[in-house]
Amino acid sequence: MKNESLSLCVKCGTCRTMCPVFRVTGEEGGVARGKISILQALYNGDTRFSEETLDFLNRCVTCGSCEFVCPRDVPFLEIIEDAREKAVDDGQISLAKKIALKLISGNKGIKGTTKLAHLIPGESGLNFKIPLINRHIPKPGKPLDSILPDYSPSTGRKVFDVVYFPGCAMRYLYTDTAKHLVTVLNRLGVGVYLDFGQKCCGFPHLTAGDRKTFNTLSTHNSDRFSAFKEKADYIVTACATCGSALKNNYNLPMKVLDINELLVDVLDVHFGERTDGNGLATRFHHPCHLLKHQQVKTQPERILSELSDYEEMAGSDFCCGFGGSFSVFEGKLSRQIGDKKAKMVKQSFAEAGIKKEVLVTSCPGCMLQLTDSLKRNEIHVPVKHIIDIIFEQMEEPHD
Ligand code: SF4
Ligand code: SF4
Repeated sequence: MKNESLSLCVKCGTCRTMCPVFRVTGEEGGVARGKISILQALYNGDTRFSEETLDFLNRCVTCGSCEFVCPRDVPFLEIIEDAREKAVDDGQISLAKKIALKLISGNKGIKGTTKLAHLIPGESGLNFKIPLINRHIPKPGKPLDSILPDYSPSTGRKVFDVVYFPGCAMRYLYTDTAKHLVTVLNRLGVGVYLDFGQKCCGFPHLTAGDRKTFNTLSTHNSDRFSAFKEKADYIVTACATCGSALKNNYNLPMKVLDINELLVDVLDVHFGERTDGNGLATRFHHPCHLLKHQQVKTQPERILSELSDYEEMAGSDFCCGFGGSFSVFEGKLSRQIGDKKAKMVKQSFAEAGIKKEVLVTSCPGCMLQLTDSLKRNEIHVPVKHIIDIIFEQMEEPHD
């Protein structure tokens, strides 16, 4: 690296305003500015990888909030990925992390891990050792592979076809949301291909510094996408993390779109405003991987404004604290960030009155974390993916 990237940082501290780790811990080593100082010392040979430096490198959600507000365009995500890669090359990755990453690359690992989490009793001492276990996570059902066909045709006049990349969480945990996405697109004239030969997008590996596995996964997935070059117009995903990986780290033969972009920017779908907001009061949590990694902001807001009584929430762009493996290996910190977010959600619904309140987002990782955080804080607001809201409103009889 990239000392030139590090030297872009003028130590102004603007990143402190948005960094979820800094907002919870107040530690300079938690924020981009502090991490950059540590890395400069490391690369100049003034210090070596130690447990303490590794701790600081690990205590980052890779949310990109620092990049989002940085006036100097410091490419912090590249910097942290690079530093973690060096740590891995230096043999500094723990065995637990290696096993977790191996499980995810096999795809079904996510299902196995969540099954295990449900099997272990709440009072087990393992809860303290494996932070995933005492969390509110959905029970894995039948994988998407056994529910949906390889191709679902449009139900009306066909506009075009897309390849849908569900990602591991929608393939094994939030399968209903994945089914809803296919149904909604079919009703809007879009045929949907699914390729069950695809594997994990590799984002968790990339952010953990395991570039070798990321390269293997991205090459495999890219080859599979090539087969659809003549058949489909776009690659679509409803997982903000997968979308970020595919857009920013793959070189693909077709354009990748988040579902919100497809619906608003390409299909220009209008859901028709209803004066009563359908009896729904919604707030939107902007997934970091959607807002800060893909610059998608207005599209979900337009959809929700048409379908419900939508208001922007103070802190809508504050990270939920999930960060994939961050929530497992930095469980306590992840929960603390989640608690902070939960308070923002509670505050924003305080005025909602008698309407049915729903917290909406557009990433399965955020859904998992937000559900867990709200339940832990006894805030009884359901969390839904935006595609579930669209599906439900399409099912509702209209005036
Ligand atoms: S906002 Fe950017 S330039 Fe300022 S301290 Fe943070 S990383 Fe450095
Ligand atoms: S990526 Fe997020 S958690 Fe990491 S330093 Fe930047 S703002 Fe903080």
